[in-house]
Amino acid sequence: MKQMIWMALLSVFFLACKDAKPKDNKLHIVTTTSMITDLVQNIGGDKVAVQGLMGAGVDPHLYKASEGDVSKLANADIIIYSGLHLEGKLVEVFEKMQRQKINTVAASDALDKKDLIGSTHFASNYDPHIWFDVENWEKITVYVANQLSAAMPENKAYFQANAAQYLLQLKALKEELNAEVATLPVDQRRLVTAHDAFNYFGRAFQFDVVGLQGLSTATEAGVQDVQKTASYIIDHKVKSVFIESSVPRRTVEALQAAVNSKNHNVIIGGTLFSDALGNPGTPEGTYIGMFKYNVHTIVNSLK
Ligand code: ZN
Repeated sequence: MKQMIWMALLSVFFLACKDAKPKDNKLHIVTTTSMITDLVQNIGGDKVAVQGLMGAGVDPHLYKASEGDVSKLANADIIIYSGLHLEGKLVEVFEKMQRQKINTVAASDALDKKDLIGSTHFASNYDPHIWFDVENWEKITVYVANQLSAAMPENKAYFQANAAQYLLQLKALKEELNAEVATLPVDQRRLVTAHDAFNYFGRAFQFDVVGLQGLSTATEAGVQDVQKTASYIIDHKVKSVFIESSVPRRTVEALQAAVNSKNHNVIIGGTLFSDALGNPGTPEGTYIGMFKYNVHTIVNSLK
């Protein structure tokens, strides 16, 4: 009898824990990368409470869930992540959450196969850096707005209006970026960075893209990669190479040293935001601000 009372008390306790969500009538969303967090905040506005797991400078390829993250995820109404194995070490956690019947949404599901660039480096068989094509981001905006509308139908008109407003901003962004890139001759559009995050960028703006470290940061660049990329820089008279905010700078510095050792010169043209936005509250802390900053930095340094 005593045991049964204890069991009953324990189950009440666990139910209370599971139900510890604040009663604020908001949709509680947990997101992964800062790009996804920014998008969901733009669409969800004040009807949602968004908790992003990964802040500025955080590398999603290497990110592991802490105990605190797992409890945030377990208490979410919806989990929205980027997908295509970008968050390679969280895949199992997402599967666990799905088994617990938590609504788990991959932004990449908004895209058709023809929107994607293939890659043998990822278990998904696709390059996951999908946000670097604004047209992909437009499709993801529509998809996320529909997901929020389905989860909270009483606010459907609000989410759809926010998405429409955001799509106008993305259209203006595309025009601004295209105009700026057009000032750089096509044969100078060569982007050499620490890891291969910019293939969608290259496709959208006709850049030849070379990443030192392969698509994921999980493997380090080898001596051969450095020598091959150094030859590319010399052969094509590339003026600048770029550091990334979420990848250690030493690989790019090794590349610069390799070029210099062959009596050529290449400068570090600046730090790009690849797999994470800048600090919240700065212009680069939003997707739109990050994209303008990156294009401005790239175009100015390669001219
Ligand atoms: Zn990456």
